[in-house]
Amino acid sequence: MSGERADNHFDLIIIGGGLAGASLACALKDTPLKIALIEAHELNTDSQPCYDDRTVALSYGSRCIFDAMELWPVLAPFAEPINSIHISDRGHFGVTRLSREQEAVEALGYVLENRDIGQQLYAVIEKSSNIHLFCPAELNSLQQDGQQVSIDIAIDGKTQALTGKLLVAADGNKSRVLQLLNIGSSRKDYAQSALITNITPGKKHNNVAYERFIETGPLAFLPMTQNRCSVVWTVSPEQADYLYALDESDFTAQMQQRFGFRLGQIKKVGKRQIYPLFLQSATQMAQGRVAIIGNAAHSVHPVAGQGFNLALRDVALLAELIVDKQRRNEDIGSPAMLQQYESLREDDIKRVYGFTDVLVRTFSNAIAPVAHARSLSLLLVDVLPDLKHQLAVQSMGLNAGRHGGLSRLNRGLPL
Ligand SMILES: Cc1cc2nc3c(=O)[nH]c(=O)nc-3n(C[C@H](O)[C@H](O)[C@H](O)COP(=O)(O)OP(=O)(O)OC[C@H]3O[C@@H](n4cnc5c(N)ncnc54)[C@H](O)[C@@H]3O)c2cc1C
Repeated sequence: MSGERADNHFDLIIIGGGLAGASLACALKDTPLKIALIEAHELNTDSQPCYDDRTVALSYGSRCIFDAMELWPVLAPFAEPINSIHISDRGHFGVTRLSREQEAVEALGYVLENRDIGQQLYAVIEKSSNIHLFCPAELNSLQQDGQQVSIDIAIDGKTQALTGKLLVAADGNKSRVLQLLNIGSSRKDYAQSALITNITPGKKHNNVAYERFIETGPLAFLPMTQNRCSVVWTVSPEQADYLYALDESDFTAQMQQRFGFRLGQIKKVGKRQIYPLFLQSATQMAQGRVAIIGNAAHSVHPVAGQGFNLALRDVALLAELIVDKQRRNEDIGSPAMLQQYESLREDDIKRVYGFTDVLVRTFSNAIAPVAHARSLSLLLVDVLPDLKHQLAVQSMGLNAGRHGGLSRLNRGLPL
């Protein structure tokens, strides 16, 4: 093997250094694996599409994964715990409350800003000698055979060839990897947009997350550090444009009218951003020596804050399968192993699709019988402990699934 080939040959190539790809690289930081992480956009630039002002509500299960990856200590200072969740339906009687005490956990989840997660993950990546970051660099071509995957990336206006035993597509919902492999996706457009902003309320949020279903869809207020709240407001694309264009006081008044005064008078509103909402699902999560994770495999409506949590469970399982192969000195890109990854992830992903889709369809419906039925279902969930526990378990990312339960990282155990 020539020196040049050795330099450009990796055990694992990850395309996309968003939340999913960067988390996978970090999960494998203490292994002997030589990893290439290819990311198109530099961190801390306005063009970076994922590490922006958005927040993620990390489930308790995701915290266990980051804990087991020894990353929670660096993320915890940026995390605001969710101690209870208050789910209500505007203008109807049903209310459900979930609490950490009932579930006997330290917190039901945690809210972190994407930008903070990105900075912490990249600080770890930069310190890890086995992770080679190519950024800004873009995937251009991909071929695979029985032995390896070969790719060309564009970096500094030049083309560079890399090879790897395994390639992971973590390049988001417009995945170039999927295009190059002719893997299709099904897509369901919700004809809704999420308008996102961060606000400072007049009262203390007391670590309560509010999910309020209003006529346009869910309106969520999630507790953030420094007594701020992250607002995710689901509206039609036209309403999103209208709300985006309002001046701050009119926008605040509209939001206050929909949310009410549980948190007092809204005092300060940050930058607004709009995201179109859809459900997208790749027809495959593995092909040959390529595995697909995160948004490249599945994008869900943010109604229940499940997207990144689902992606992190892809990461946890894939990292476990890779490490088990590497420890046995076996091929980490074995197509049989990737088929196993695909089939083990199937249940969890289907459950999240179903859970999210039902929430969106039921709670974005103003027709009277549907509205009464959902009020009733909220009341039922509130009075039936088993049902409520099931809702909490799903929200916390602790649903074991049919095939063999949770991955080691998801159970808080090291790889
Ligand atoms: C409004 C909103 C609110 C949300 N709230 C939550 C929440 O509360 N909880 C939760 O769990 N999830 C939430 N999500 C979902 C979460 O943001 C996504 O699941 C997560 O960002 C997916 O990360 P990813 O790394 O898979 O994809 P992406 O974030 O899309 O990252 C893909 C990366 O690949 C790079 N890339 C793309 N093409 C190439 C190429 N050819 N070569 C090199 N690099 C490339 C991109 O630059 C990017 O960095 C929310 C989503 C939205 C829209």
